Amino acid sequence: MLAILDGYSFCADDRNKTTTHWVCTNTGLCRARFITTKGREFIIKMPTSQHTHERPEFFIKNGVFYRKIVQIFRRPNSGNKVAVVEGYSFYRANKFQHSIIWRCSASSHCLARFTCSNDGYLCILKSNLVHNHPKPQFHIQDGVLYRFK
Ligand SMILES: [Zn+2]
Ligand SMILES: [Zn+2]
Repeated sequence: MLAILDGYSFCADDRNKTTTHWVCTNTGLCRARFITTKGREFIIKMPTSQHTHERPEFFIKNGVFYRKIVQIFRRPNSGNKVAVVEGYSFYRANKFQHSIIWRCSASSHCLARFTCSNDGYLCILKSNLVHNHPKPQFHIQDGVLYRFK
C-alpha cells in the first residue's frame, strides 16, 4: 500500500494495530513520515515532513504505482530469492505476516539489513544500509543473480 503526499511517496507500515504509519519510500536517508487512522482518512500526526531529497520519479497508471524500490532476483542453484538495494545483495533472513527482513549476503560480518513490506510493493520500512565492504561484483541475467567470486 502506497500513499502520495505533496509529490512524495510513502509506504504503509501496518504493524501498529490502531494506526497506520507512513514512511518515505526513500528510507535509509530520509526520515519523513506521518501517521493516519487505520481507515486512512485522517492524518493524525506528522512528526517529520521535511524530506532530505528531491521528489522521486514515479508514475501512476490505473491506480498502480510504478517504481521498483527493492529488486528481487533468484540464485542460480538454490532458486532462493535475493534482493538488491543500492548495488548490494541481501538474502531473506525472516518473513513475517506484514514484513520481511533481509540481511547483507556479501559478508557475514556486515550489519547492513532492511525490513520491507510483505505486500508486493516491497517498500523499505526500516533500514541500515551502511556496509563495511565494497559493493559485490555480480551479473544478472533473466532474473538470476550470478556472483563473481
Ligand atoms: Zn523522503
Ligand atoms: Zn554488506
